[in-house]
Amino acid sequence: RGDASESGRGAVGSGRVPRTPHERLLAGLFAEVLALGEHEVGADSDFFALGGHSLLATRLISRLRAVLGVELPLRALFETPTVAGLAAELGSADATSRPELRPAARRPGDPLPLSFGQRRLWFLYRLDGPSATYNMPLVLRLSGALDRDALRAALGDIVTRHETLRTVYAEGADGVPYPRVLDPADVGAVSDPRVVEAPGADVETLVAEAAGHRFDLAVEPPLRVTLFATGDEEHVLVLALHHIACDGWSLRPLSRDLATAYAARLAGRAPAWAPLPVTYADYAAWQGELLGDAADPRSLAARRLDHWRRALHGVPELLHLPTDRPRPAAASFRGDHFSFDVDAEMHAALVGLARSRGASLFMVLHAGLAALFTRLGAGSDIAVGTPVAGRTDAALDDLVGFFVNTLVLRADTSGDPTFAELLGRVRENALGAYANQDLPFEHLVEELNPVRSPAHHPLFQVMLALQNAPTGHFGLPGLRVRGVRVPTGTSRVDVTFSVEERRGADGCPAGLEAVVEYATDLYDRDTVADLAGRWVRLLSAAASAPETPISRLPVLAEEEHARLTRAGDGCRNAAARDITPAGFPALFAARVWECPDAVAVMCGEVELSYRELDERANRFARALAARGVGAEDVVALVLPRSVAWVVAVLGVLKTGAAYLPVDPAYPAERIAYLLDDARPALVIDDPAQVDDTADFPATDPDMPIDPAQAAYVIYTSGSTGRPKGVVVSHTGIASLVASQIDHLRLGVGSRVLQASSPSFDASFWDVCAALLSGAALVLAPVDDPLAGLRDARVTHATVPPSALAAVPEGTGTALETLIVAGEACPPELVARWAPGRRMINAYGPTETTVCATMSTPLDASVAGNPPMGQAIINARVYVLDAALRPVPPGVPGELYVAGPGLARGYLGRTALTAQRFVADPYTPANQPGTRMYRTGDLARTTRDGRLEYLGRADNQLKIRGYRIEPGEIETALTTHPAIAHAAV
Ligand code: AMP
Ligand code: MG
Repeated sequence: RGDASESGRGAVGSGRVPRTPHERLLAGLFAEVLALGEHEVGADSDFFALGGHSLLATRLISRLRAVLGVELPLRALFETPTVAGLAAELGSADATSRPELRPAARRPGDPLPLSFGQRRLWFLYRLDGPSATYNMPLVLRLSGALDRDALRAALGDIVTRHETLRTVYAEGADGVPYPRVLDPADVGAVSDPRVVEAPGADVETLVAEAAGHRFDLAVEPPLRVTLFATGDEEHVLVLALHHIACDGWSLRPLSRDLATAYAARLAGRAPAWAPLPVTYADYAAWQGELLGDAADPRSLAARRLDHWRRALHGVPELLHLPTDRPRPAAASFRGDHFSFDVDAEMHAALVGLARSRGASLFMVLHAGLAALFTRLGAGSDIAVGTPVAGRTDAALDDLVGFFVNTLVLRADTSGDPTFAELLGRVRENALGAYANQDLPFEHLVEELNPVRSPAHHPLFQVMLALQNAPTGHFGLPGLRVRGVRVPTGTSRVDVTFSVEERRGADGCPAGLEAVVEYATDLYDRDTVADLAGRWVRLLSAAASAPETPISRLPVLAEEEHARLTRAGDGCRNAAARDITPAGFPALFAARVWECPDAVAVMCGEVELSYRELDERANRFARALAARGVGAEDVVALVLPRSVAWVVAVLGVLKTGAAYLPVDPAYPAERIAYLLDDARPALVIDDPAQVDDTADFPATDPDMPIDPAQAAYVIYTSGSTGRPKGVVVSHTGIASLVASQIDHLRLGVGSRVLQASSPSFDASFWDVCAALLSGAALVLAPVDDPLAGLRDARVTHATVPPSALAAVPEGTGTALETLIVAGEACPPELVARWAPGRRMINAYGPTETTVCATMSTPLDASVAGNPPMGQAIINARVYVLDAALRPVPPGVPGELYVAGPGLARGYLGRTALTAQRFVADPYTPANQPGTRMYRTGDLARTTRDGRLEYLGRADNQLKIRGYRIEPGEIETALTTHPAIAHAAV
């Protein structure tokens, strides 16, 4: 295969001369199909090197059928694409069993058959009424002296010649459509252009209107001609055509016939053209005969169906790609389009890749699209539709009519194949599809009977077309003719990628021109532009390194990659702030110094000032230190929410040790487990131990604390069924508090409710929010924590959505700021609670020091799940794929968190720690070696940079604020009555 140059047609005419009769015949057919001179094809000439593609291949096969009466499999052409190679294959090709396409004897009044494709369009018309969704406007700008009479006559000639253009489809009494061909005598009514004098006008809108005519197929022929006269020598000719009478491959005969007829009429003659060999009605009848009865297993229809049933078995109903808007229950078919180019160099590279793998350019484009969709979260079973000319018999070449068929191509991208491997799979699939292309799509849909929905196209929602229909060339004498693309404002499927090849004079790749038509129900222009950009980026990398696994091909622009992984303005990760990590005691001491007399704790009627609280904590810390408690010790606090508990937490932190909160309401079994696993140096389970410290001085013990020391150990679920202790240091506390002060507007005078169980890290969040900002911590009643929400003193409260949902509507509260955290917050709760106050969504796992992201105040009028907001100060969040690369906006990925708040790990579980806390590949250059925490949460970023929570990657549950991993349900149910109760 290495004979010709890598790109373009090269090596034409060189090499051996065809010798055997088969070789000579094939050389002649190659030349005919490829529009080359006969001398340009040698015995070793390669069909694809000469510019062949799959559609021309189909044509070659059909020519062989007509000339030799043999059925050469298309695959043979792909496998031995040279003249000599194919000539050898011809010997073993089967004789064709196809019926011949012939003009049928037609008596006046005989009902005309409809083709399968027409039947579907007619059906859609009956369903939706007249619409422009299936219009194919042809708009020509004519400059020069136009002879209107000649044009009128020429249009009449065309409509006379092509029956399809003067056929109406009235419904008979039996509900069946009857095509009725208008008599040529009445043709003027169809072909006479409506002439609109619009001198100097900008006719764009008028043209779009004319092109978007809604054909009433039952009474109106599917062609409507309008001529806009914008100047003496300037006209715009609009042929609004309905797809029922036309397709892309009809443009060639249409343009050729119009040119011939116009030239003849100018000269005062009727066009002298050969009559068409068959009519569309002959084709429709032949199609029925060819396919036969699908119920007969020997029929072509049955054999084709057999292929397609196997090929499409289990194909997903819907291709899930990120959209800008949710899919409406019924598609409006409104659409828009976006154009882009691919340069000659890349075009050549793609052609080169195709040729080196025995594939076509189309297959390369298709493999690229499938790989892209997989990378965009669509899974590994990707179906797209593609049009094929459907003119499988050469007698159809000169007809204007609807012959195009749609093939469903399915790509299996599973197992992370290299691009080359994927191309091989795509090629196999395509060859099978081409070989079975004569089963009409409509027939297939009827037989496969996939879920039919007005919301989406059946079997595929994305189309790919390599437009190699010979482009119509409207050479009208005396006129300069330019085709104008008119947006139809419609889109039949979600997205259609149409690519056209440009070839230089020597046949060399000269670039690709692509148009993406998209449903505006789903997409915005920018998103489609991004999609196109990603496709090109991926293909470009694949062309230069086809052995790259598809997971490693780039889909993001460098700038995007940077934005998604780094911090800075306009990023989800705010620019780093210079906050020096400090120990909790030092941060608290600063508040005591600033506002010693402000209220620090409120519990019922009891109030403690900052100074009082500090003194009690100092005494307790000294008492602990006297018992040898210090850095890296764990002190278990088995205390209910109380002033003593607050003093104890502060006291332990002041010694430099870590506290382990244990809710005394826990079952004895669970408490025993926690104490056994954490091996605390000391267990405090009596408030008296905290309060009886009169012997110790009230001055600060001033223990030097390295922020890397452990501050607390909090147990969360463990996938093994055993809860695990998360060891959190002081490093993230200063940044957390700075974020709380910013987002929650905290300070002296604020009163922060503490309602969550002391065993949850939410309690640490409350303590920080109050005692490190100068606010007061208001302790909720132990037996009815939600009563705290009615406490008129409270200004700030953090509540899990499930608890908030249990608060009866109309419950009065003076809350200024309500934080929902711990679980996804349903939109109804936002609608109910956001009005009149700042409501904020806070997200974070225990492993990141309670909180990783916080939203701005939620807007009750915005539908959908509340946003997660931005990373808190100095934290970074990434949404990554399985290979730890950032996923594009809109694509679900796993959420990772990095920054000073990362926990040290799991107590005594190094292996588990190493699994969840991994190296951060996006560490800023000045912080080498940092880690990131793999949260197990699924999220995506929206195009405008918001972060959206999507759920869990595993089956972890949150019940009553407690994390339960799949392996742990049993234990959780038996050891945690609250969970068991909620679960029931
Ligand atoms: P925990 O470590 O017990 O706080 O649990 C952390 C997990 O709770 C996260 O990984 C999420 O699955 C879930 N979670 C916490 N906050 C939110 C939130 N605001 N929205 C959705 N899920 C959340
Ligand atoms: Mg939490």
